[in-house]
Amino acid sequence: MNLIPAPSPNFGPRPAPPDMIVLHYTGMRTGEAALARLRDPAAQVSAHYLVEEDGRVFSLVAEERRAWHAGRSFWKGATDINAASVGVEIVNPGHEFGYRPFPDAQIAAVIELVAEIRTRWTIPDARILAHSDVAPARKEDPGELFPWRRLAEEGHGLWAEPAAAPGAPLKPGDDGPGVFALQAGLTRLGYDSPPSGQYDEPTATIVRAFQRHWRPAKVDGHADGETRARLIALLRLAAADA
Ligand SMILES: [Zn+2]
Repeated sequence: MNLIPAPSPNFGPRPAPPDMIVLHYTGMRTGEAALARLRDPAAQVSAHYLVEEDGRVFSLVAEERRAWHAGRSFWKGATDINAASVGVEIVNPGHEFGYRPFPDAQIAAVIELVAEIRTRWTIPDARILAHSDVAPARKEDPGELFPWRRLAEEGHGLWAEPAAAPGAPLKPGDDGPGVFALQAGLTRLGYDSPPSGQYDEPTATIVRAFQRHWRPAKVDGHADGETRARLIALLRLAAADA
């Protein structure tokens, strides 16, 4: 694809090849402002790519380098997510400045970009993630409007919509073996959700992150039957994908 060079100085060396893609939204009023910030040495942030709403793709940091996009993060026990991942910033004002649907041209460019990145590195579907997956307490991006289902239909990432939605809802304040099993499932998928059996605020935050990615129609932090059925289905897919 046609990449527009826009080099950023905000990178370091990688210890190993990347095996993960982390998608973001820029969360700034304009794409121009986001691009300038991601190239500003004082900002100390970057990404490998920025995808504009019209589908233009800017190349900021070589994939062989460690860009600074994820910050304090966690997935499957790893905390240096920048070292493991290719970071893609998708222009959108975000929840703070007027969250809006991602235009088709932009999503088509993201899909093409992800496909190209995956020709160069071994990146399992289960490791195509949202910034909110790896930093659920701090981040909401790219958010519930990002079309993860479409991305999966194009062959990138996991998606599951099981028909059955068994079980009573679990919600904040609950405790017991059902909550323990929920937390264990979220941990197995990759989240930092150590099982305690207590449906505490950190658990609700992680359930919201899960929903933003995998059950975007209702992001409320309550593990209803549909949310839990999707988690179980995704665990099966992730196990098959490993
Ligand atoms: Zn982000």
